[in-house]
Amino acid sequence: MPERIAFPAPLAAASAASGSASVLVSGTIAYDDILTPSDSIKHALGGSGSYAALAASFFADTRLAGIVGSDFAVKDFERLKKRGIDTAGVNIVPAGETFFWRGKYHENYNSRDTLETRLGVNAHDRSPLPDAWRDSPFILLANDEPRLQHAVIAQLRAPRFILVDTMNLWIDTAQAELLRVTARADLFVVNDSEAQQLTGESNLIVAGRKMLKRTGARSVLVKKGEHGALLFHPEGMFAIPSYPVTALRDPTGAGDSFAGAFIGVLAALDRVDFAALRLAALYATAVASLTVESFSCDRLESAGIAEIEKRADEIRDMTRIPK
Ligand code: AMP
Repeated sequence: MPERIAFPAPLAAASAASGSASVLVSGTIAYDDILTPSDSIKHALGGSGSYAALAASFFADTRLAGIVGSDFAVKDFERLKKRGIDTAGVNIVPAGETFFWRGKYHENYNSRDTLETRLGVNAHDRSPLPDAWRDSPFILLANDEPRLQHAVIAQLRAPRFILVDTMNLWIDTAQAELLRVTARADLFVVNDSEAQQLTGESNLIVAGRKMLKRTGARSVLVKKGEHGALLFHPEGMFAIPSYPVTALRDPTGAGDSFAGAFIGVLAALDRVDFAALRLAALYATAVASLTVESFSCDRLESAGIAEIEKRADEIRDMTRIPK
């Protein structure tokens, strides 16, 4: 069993001790070609589901649902399994091609262009979830076509917490379907430009509050890259800085691993209250900071729980304000 961060009482609910809460991640599993201002990589393991599941696996039992082609390498399955991720919900399409994405970052590493997307097997219908997975309590609908995200929701029996992530493409091309998904979300996660795109508001506080009213999600989190994140919740607003990364290599997957760690912490705590969401945001920030220090999922996989705990503590120290 790979190492995992456990939260003792009183942080975790008594029920968490039984280890019953598991995370279901649904998302893309991809091969990425990435160009940054200083480096590049080809055919690297990526996809919203891969990053998110690896991040969640540091905290909770993790199940990954998605689809790959027969070109998906055994060694990449092994990378997921090594972190204890159950891949029984990954469909393998014979003679199909795994989703492919090619992106190029601008000089500041904050924005990027998609140069090419080959849907490959992502255009195929997916098999139903393994029956036992329909009872998963903690759900992450990682960035994917909203129609597919909705199809997962439709199979769930009694979800306790649904986290929904998305991207600019779906806000542009499938907004109505996306809003059908967010209406079922306990937390909807977007980045700053997506928040502006969705609301037409440049002020992120106004945008966050508007999304809380208009998307149907019970809470909304806006990520601001190296400037941290803002959580909008019916009980109030919570702000957290980013971890001060100096060895930025490739921002790909930061958002996905943020979301994965977030849902993983909630499952580990077996709690979904505002305080639990704040703790989840802390660990999500720490885990995302690891992802961006390497290409692909490399740093995420190699990071031990001691490094995650160290970064979480550093963020705590950075933000401690005496009264
Ligand atoms: P992030 O940097 O957190 O936005 O995640 C980047 C990952 O999203 C990459 O590994 C891509 O493979 C994946 N990705 C790119 N385009 C799409 C898309 N249209 N739908 C789902 N995932 C995508």
